[in-house]
Amino acid sequence: MIKVAINGYGTIGKRVADAVSVQDDMEIVGVTKRHPGFEARHAVEKGYDLYAALPEKQDDFRKTGIDVMGTIHDLLEKADIIVDCTPGGIGAGNKPTYKKAGVKAIFEGGEKHDVAGFSFNAECNYEGAIGRDFVRIVSCNTTGLCRVIHPLNEAFGVKKVRAVLVRRAADPGDVKKGPINAIIPDPIKLPSHHGPDVKTVLPEIDITTMAIKIPTTLMHLHTLNMVFNSVPGADDVKAVLQKGPRIRFISAADGLTSTASIIEMARDMGRPRYDVWENCIWEDSIDVEGGELYFFQAIHQESTVILENVDAIRAMTNLERSAEKSMQKTNRAMGLV
Ligand code: NAD
Repeated sequence: MIKVAINGYGTIGKRVADAVSVQDDMEIVGVTKRHPGFEARHAVEKGYDLYAALPEKQDDFRKTGIDVMGTIHDLLEKADIIVDCTPGGIGAGNKPTYKKAGVKAIFEGGEKHDVAGFSFNAECNYEGAIGRDFVRIVSCNTTGLCRVIHPLNEAFGVKKVRAVLVRRAADPGDVKKGPINAIIPDPIKLPSHHGPDVKTVLPEIDITTMAIKIPTTLMHLHTLNMVFNSVPGADDVKAVLQKGPRIRFISAADGLTSTASIIEMARDMGRPRYDVWENCIWEDSIDVEGGELYFFQAIHQESTVILENVDAIRAMTNLERSAEKSMQKTNRAMGLV
């Protein structure tokens, strides 16, 4: 059993902890929080060993009656690998601590590519992460793009990708960024960073992206336009995408006409925290016009990258050399069929 620690038990951290816990080849040895509060309390109630992310704050937890087992340094002594789920930019500052402790580390998409020198997507470059000490999991939007661009590139040879990303303004629990009532070009100076981020995983792809932020917390929506070396028909595209291990075809005919209805479906399915780990592609939107492919997909920002974290742990700790087998194992354990 590979021993996994989580630094930063927030939106991503708590989901990675739960996903690791249901795998049979890895276990959580502890999670950190910076401050006491309901998330720290629930972590302990769920059975996770809790550690103070900041050593000087240990007593704050004890004063509120929350058990802490020690500090991040104590946790590092128990771990083979740590998943840094702290807010963007903090992870880079934590890297020397992990290095000194001799513990492998995964960083998330809020960090720059340089933090690890290797940006990961299970379907695209799993083999490159095998045995590595440091890996960065690309953001939810980049993960969602990589999952469709890679197989279509393999099948038809991508000439160029142009995408507009309609982004949720904040996560549901993130009141600091709301309420808002605006449509924000984000950023105004184009292109957005998402295209270059895809190239950290798939350097050969010609991709340009634009992004706008809108007042919703539920999901992102991508509008994709792709041109290929050999022009496929819409049915050829569907046949390729349908094989993706983390792709779900949805349809307006089934009542799935918005991100809100996708979330309602996830609730009805009993998904934990109504998470939607897979890309949701509107099958009815897939169309080839004048040799160019168009379609819509929805990406659940809070949960899309969780499966990739599990696969990266497997690759970095040499638990599994085959991307396909790791993804199957992760998916099966999560109940994603
Ligand atoms: P979050 O704010 O929900 O959670 C971060 C956690 O880290 C919180 O528990 C916070 O208390 C804790 N923390 C803050 N400073 C810390 C420190 N110095 N040391 C240890 N813990 C500290 O953030 P998040 O949304 O989970 O994002 C984490 C990472 O995942 C970021 O890199 C982000 O860009 C990336 N990411 C986020 C999303 C998303 O939509 N939320 C999607 C994909 C990737």
